[in-house]
Amino acid sequence: MSEIPYKIYLSESEIPTAWYNVRADMKNKPAPLLNPGTGEPLKAEDLMPIFCEELCKQEMNNTDQWIDIPGEILDFYKMYRPSPLVRAYCLEKALDTPAHIYYKFEGNNTSGSHKLNSAIAQAYYAKKQGLKGVTTETGAGQWGTALSMSTAYFGLDCQVYMVKVSYEQKPFRREVMRTYGATVTPSPSMTTNIGRKINEEFPGTDGSLGCAISEAVEAATSQEGYRYVLGSVLNQVLLHQSVIGLEAKAALDKYGIKADMIIGCAGGGSNLGGLISPFVGQMLRGEADYEIIAVEPASCPSLTRGSYVYDFCDTGRVCPLAKMYTLGSDFMPAPNHAGGLRYHGMSSIVSQLYDDGLIKARSVKQTDVFAAAEQFARVEGILPAPESSHAIKVAIDEALKCKETGEAKNIVFGLTGTGYFDLVAYQKYNDGVMDDYIPTDEDIAASLAKCPKL
Ligand SMILES: *Cc1c(COP(=O)(O)O)cnc(C)c1O
Repeated sequence: MSEIPYKIYLSESEIPTAWYNVRADMKNKPAPLLNPGTGEPLKAEDLMPIFCEELCKQEMNNTDQWIDIPGEILDFYKMYRPSPLVRAYCLEKALDTPAHIYYKFEGNNTSGSHKLNSAIAQAYYAKKQGLKGVTTETGAGQWGTALSMSTAYFGLDCQVYMVKVSYEQKPFRREVMRTYGATVTPSPSMTTNIGRKINEEFPGTDGSLGCAISEAVEAATSQEGYRYVLGSVLNQVLLHQSVIGLEAKAALDKYGIKADMIIGCAGGGSNLGGLISPFVGQMLRGEADYEIIAVEPASCPSLTRGSYVYDFCDTGRVCPLAKMYTLGSDFMPAPNHAGGLRYHGMSSIVSQLYDDGLIKARSVKQTDVFAAAEQFARVEGILPAPESSHAIKVAIDEALKCKETGEAKNIVFGLTGTGYFDLVAYQKYNDGVMDDYIPTDEDIAASLAKCPKL
């Protein structure tokens, strides 16, 4: 076999031309979204006042295994894809492990993360529908950045509701969004009914992702020619992110490498779902077996400590109900939580795969995550995003286990992005003032008690 290079690049012609829809191969389909008022399953038409038409269809599509990637999206993908699959030779050497470690690096674009893969698709379908623009929320700003790059490309308006505390503390991402032409409003704002209500009830509030979602949905439905878009959790987002897994699998196949273990960080589940989809598809069809690990923060542990129930997707409770592993829509990770991945719930697809025992989950503490991030940065050169570093932490743990057992496992993990805008968190870690807060069982039980009773 030929020597495996540091970076396995696919050629431009090897970029996938269709997304893979893992739902088609799932025996147990992800549970349908429900109308919060009636408790009835939603149809694509019910979602159309909120989301773009084609995206509603993709959201409901449990049958087509492949969905063609339109040429206009492929053209954009060609500007920053295929992304490399990197053999972490230097990390392996530093760990003195017989394991072979590979990472799929999605940080090679200005938004700095995998979110662009879905943002460009969502902007394309909005444009194709003849819309004027889209609204969304952003927390730390990765999604807002990816979306503003995409709307700029297609000449659409982009209105971003940014959680107030991030708007004030993370001015640089805000400026990237404005540079790409987006309007960025701190949330809660005075521009929506829900924002005014929250400001009145909680004067001086820092805002939250759940509140920003509610504002963005209201802004979309109250303006002619606008729809709301979301950067994670939804089936359509996992579908678009399958490009990560398809490329990773093509690169491994090119060199005859069979992955033993696939690891990804899990916030809303989109990068993990995209990375693992083609591999899980093989498992579902009985063609291959893999050990798959979803990694989440110990401070926001929806898979490892949540319940698999119907819950609200947002704190404002304006969105449909989704069945997912959740900590309850009121759950707030502790304020000292720095490592991203703060969402209370989890993609319905990832939740169902986990419930069916096809994937495992593990939670890790944030100081351990930053230790792994620094170890990785110092030998592999890339400054990883804190979110991505959850996967690094478990990849290192598993490689060290291989050292004990002498197994030369092939470990593949998703390196979802870079950490240039997360240096305040790195600073805390370097100054030794970062700590680990882990919610108590009582904390979790209290927020789970507020899940809707159906
Ligand atoms: C948003 C984000 C994540 C988490 O989102 P998922 O939907 O779980 O993939 C992970 N890594 C980076 C760099 C992100 O920006």
